[in-house]
Amino acid sequence: EKVLTSEKEEIIDNNLKYTLFSWQKQAGIKPLVIDRAEGVYIWDKSGKRILDFSSQLVNVNIGHGHPAVADAVLKQMQEVSYVYPGMVTKARGELAKKLAAVAPGILTKTFFTLGGAEAIENAIKMARLVTGRHKIVTLYQSYHGATYGAMTAGGDPRKLPSDSQQMPNVVHVENPYFYRDPWHSATPEECGERAAEHFERVVGYEGPGNIAAVIMEGESGSSGCIKYPQGYLKKVKTICEKHGILFIADEVMSGFGRTGKWFGIQHHDVEPDMLCFAKGVTSGYLPLGGLMVTGEIARNFDDKPLPLGLTYSAHPVSCAAGSAVMDVYENEGLIENAARMGEYLESRVEELMQQHPSIGDFRNTGLLGCLELVKNRETKEPMAPWNANAAEMAIMNQVQAKLSELGMYTMVRWNFIFIAPPLTITEAQIDEGLEMISEALKIADAYCY
Ligand code: PLP
Repeated sequence: EKVLTSEKEEIIDNNLKYTLFSWQKQAGIKPLVIDRAEGVYIWDKSGKRILDFSSQLVNVNIGHGHPAVADAVLKQMQEVSYVYPGMVTKARGELAKKLAAVAPGILTKTFFTLGGAEAIENAIKMARLVTGRHKIVTLYQSYHGATYGAMTAGGDPRKLPSDSQQMPNVVHVENPYFYRDPWHSATPEECGERAAEHFERVVGYEGPGNIAAVIMEGESGSSGCIKYPQGYLKKVKTICEKHGILFIADEVMSGFGRTGKWFGIQHHDVEPDMLCFAKGVTSGYLPLGGLMVTGEIARNFDDKPLPLGLTYSAHPVSCAAGSAVMDVYENEGLIENAARMGEYLESRVEELMQQHPSIGDFRNTGLLGCLELVKNRETKEPMAPWNANAAEMAIMNQVQAKLSELGMYTMVRWNFIFIAPPLTITEAQIDEGLEMISEALKIADAYCY
């Protein structure tokens, strides 16, 4: 038995011995021990300051350590820490009212869950109940969570190891991915049109009368911020309306100011029938998610029981955190700041692209952005392929290790480097982050041909 000489070693040892880690092989993990976080920075146990350039998992939108949230949580904890979802607290109704005020279209009622995947599960269930239909249509390059239904709905290749256990009756369509457009369109708008026509053909093949719902992210997130061309979502929604198919916006990542508006879909003039949210609603301070529906959908359950339920639905303390976080967005002008900083980021990344041949594309909306790295701008050969194995990730892993060494944490997946910092970020902090990225990209540049 190894002798543990420091508190840090003991913390790591307990975690490695007694817990499992998401998405990675369990041998050889070297987790950072974090014991302080404030604003856009976190500190590890040795005192090293780390710039959080992806708001952890694109959820800590208001930044770390906001005292107003801690106060609200403590107060709620002292008043009522828990009641079952048939009883109510002030915080639950207050948060839901704030959500209805900012949601797109005519979404009025919220069913609270604990996170994003559960919101998607309940949306699928609700859509099937309301329409009496069974099929769900989603995009291949999308992520909707890691439970069976949500993972099947997504097209993220990390679901492939559990392929034989996926939920039946999910149909996938191509993304309108202009940078790698299967239709070789001349403009993003044309790509959007072709993708919408493809969607309509698939709906026809599958039988519109079988399709309960379409689920699409409000703006593409972890699959590479594959921005929807203007007009695409509107066309999809029109096709849905024609056939009585419900449109479900997954705003788990794109919601709560991330794109410079309250919700990603508000860039596309589309009113969804349902909306799933999580992450930014509490900015990660406590687990919470939810499913919002229109009054019309909710009325289906006026005279029959709603068959959804969770012990922790509308948890009072999570709702109190959410309500406080909603006030922070408003009072501190964070959504406006996200839009402004997004423009600044875009202009700075344009300069970066001139220095680094490895940047093939940069796609961004507000502060939901992603660099797509390539070995060659002409061939667009990715620095790591979609669903890369460990060997194929070698270069990207070097880039990521360099970023860590320089004092940055950000999400890196396949050939994507995400730029999605807290919405509180300043120009100087964006510059600081981009300098580190520029330094790390020299590694990738060396592999360009
Ligand atoms: N939907 C989208 C668009 C997401 O990005 C995520 C998580 O990254 C989820 C759903 C799943 O949310 P959770 O991890 O809270 O279950």
